Amino acid sequence: MKLLKNKNVIITGASRGIGKGIAELLSSHGANIAFTYRSSDDQAKILERKLLEGGNRVIGFKTDASDFDSTNLFVDEVLKEFNSIDVLINNAGITKDGLLMRMSEQDFDDVMKVNMKSVFNMTKSVLKPMLKQRSGSIINMSSVVGVKGNAGQANYSASKAAINGFTKSTALELGSRNIRCNAIAPGFIETEMTESLAEDQIKEWRNLIPLKRGGTVNDVANVTLFLASDMSSYVTGQVIHVCGGMLT
Ligand code: NAP
Repeated sequence: MKLLKNKNVIITGASRGIGKGIAELLSSHGANIAFTYRSSDDQAKILERKLLEGGNRVIGFKTDASDFDSTNLFVDEVLKEFNSIDVLINNAGITKDGLLMRMSEQDFDDVMKVNMKSVFNMTKSVLKPMLKQRSGSIINMSSVVGVKGNAGQANYSASKAAINGFTKSTALELGSRNIRCNAIAPGFIETEMTESLAEDQIKEWRNLIPLKRGGTVNDVANVTLFLASDMSSYVTGQVIHVCGGMLT
């Protein structure tokens, strides 16, 4: 059964990792996909071709999600092509880890801007069309560290905690217009973002997870599909943990 037939979906940061997995799964469920990336031109082209083969429409757009004006331009383009936006997935994110003693102001600002401000930019941009059509699902990629904190990630966990607050407020403001907003808080998902971690650290993480494995991109994409589709029509304002039981 195709859960998103003819639905128009925006995904930020889909050239790699979780975003790419979400784009592939949602496209296989019939969605037209407009995605952004920051610098991976080749990977974005490969994804575009792959999704087109599935027979749905695709727009790949190189744009910095943390920039307000270029976000508006991107959304205008999507509306010209697709006419409406049914689902927004704010997935783009970066890490610049370090203990607070050594964390620079730049590293703090960059992470807040890409992870959090991008969510404000995109949500503001899609609001008008979603309000007009009186429907929409907004899904924000948070993290379990936004709930529990993590030493060495003060900037990252603050950005994700801010996303959780933003998600709940958006759900409260827009529920009466049939616009839902939820966050997904992945635990340890094995992607390029986590490849930079030391092998010992990865083993330690896996051992701490009740399901005894790191999560896969598909583990997160499946929950995203649920939140994007009408299967979750009575779910809003929630932060759903996808972490193998790491945080209960
Ligand atoms: P990833 O493999 O590093 O991919 C990040 C994606 O975001 C790439 O497509 C990248 O584009 C894009 N991006 C980065 N900065 C951008 C910007 N300013 N504007 C537009 N696109 C931008 O990351 P991931 O592991 O898939 O993580 C995806 C999301 O899940 C992030 O929000 C992350 O915080 C969250 N998350 C991940 C984990 C995990 O364990 N992996 C756990 C919890 C939460 P380019 O390829 O062009 O750079």
